[in-house]
Amino acid sequence: MSAETLSSQLIGLEEELGAHNYHPLDTVLERGEGVWVFDVEGKRYLDCLSAYSALNHGHLHPRIIKALREQSEKLTLTSRAFRNDKLSAFYQKICALSGAEMVLPMNTGAEAVETAIKAARKWGYLKKGISENKAEIIVCENNFHGRTTSIISFSTEEQYRKHFGPFTPGFVTVPYGNAQALEDAITPDTCAFLVEPIQGEAGVVVPPAGYLADVADICSRNNVLLLVDEIQTGLGRTGKLFAYEHEEVRPDAVIVGKALGGGVFPISAVLAKKEVLGVFQPGDHGSTFGGNPLACAVACAALDVLVEEKLIERSAELGGWFFEQLSGLTHESIREIRGKGLMIGIECTVPVRGFCESLQSRGILCKETHSTVIRLTPPLIIEKEQLSWVLKELGDLF
Ligand SMILES: *Cc1c(COP(=O)(O)O)cnc(C)c1O
Repeated sequence: MSAETLSSQLIGLEEELGAHNYHPLDTVLERGEGVWVFDVEGKRYLDCLSAYSALNHGHLHPRIIKALREQSEKLTLTSRAFRNDKLSAFYQKICALSGAEMVLPMNTGAEAVETAIKAARKWGYLKKGISENKAEIIVCENNFHGRTTSIISFSTEEQYRKHFGPFTPGFVTVPYGNAQALEDAITPDTCAFLVEPIQGEAGVVVPPAGYLADVADICSRNNVLLLVDEIQTGLGRTGKLFAYEHEEVRPDAVIVGKALGGGVFPISAVLAKKEVLGVFQPGDHGSTFGGNPLACAVACAALDVLVEEKLIERSAELGGWFFEQLSGLTHESIREIRGKGLMIGIECTVPVRGFCESLQSRGILCKETHSTVIRLTPPLIIEKEQLSWVLKELGDLF
């Protein structure tokens, strides 16, 4: 007879058979509904991570699931060898909402970043007249843009790169939050500056006010494209549709992913000016699943829900209130609390894995980033009472 629980059995199998590229909290989830998830033992948790902001709409949003179900019974995949009737609907909706002139859909965030890099380089050769193979893209220290070989080539995180070289050349790194450093790094070969409006994976790092406006101005004066990675910050997370709107800038390309799929189906996209995405010719770039009708139908529903259920406004109001309340938390191990909307990081002076595990035992799921930051990014559908409960549990902990 074994006292082994179902959870520990499943965890054992995962550890034995799967690559160990993550270090998850040991809860095995089997069901989700709204802000809640349930593990195989029946324990309920409030999801305060939201799959790194991919679940802005919460789990199993009925309208998004309805769109998934209906489309899954009509047509799921055509490849871009043929056209499908949901692609144009998705283009229209996302262009109307974002002000973009052109869209290129992919599946994951990293693929959309790769797409933006390719577009920016080709733009550099065709429109700016940079000599072939000389184009440079400026990126920031402590960036996170995904995990492909080219993207990790410009990571400054030792672990993301070690033993994965040789790396893709053509990237230059500057400190985040320092517009002058960007200006100093620009050369005639610079085609683009790629930046996160708030650095999520780096620990919810908010740049100084005015930074984005300054870099937008520097880019436009120097004929350098401004590529904004809104994969984590976009679609309401920071209390605006896009985090760059806090400073009223107009990027040349915006990269979206995560919540675009409503927490249901992977879809990402580059949203850009015609001058940028217009450089692609048939055969230049592609993806078998990119722009598939199932993903497009789900994304349309996700965007409708975001707007009609006023999730962006919720994020601004509840996030503002939550942040204010959190500021009342004082504890010797809290160094700083940062964030915008419902994207909040509590930086501590000590590793916070233990805090996350204590919260887990109290029924709240969140995950440390960079070992000393507790990231709180609940679904935007969360209620004030639920946030109050998080505050109470955090207060007990700190
Ligand atoms: C998650 C994330 C990515 C990568 O997205 P994937 O879908 O995991 O490939 C890129 N940039 C930012 C800012 C992200 O948060």
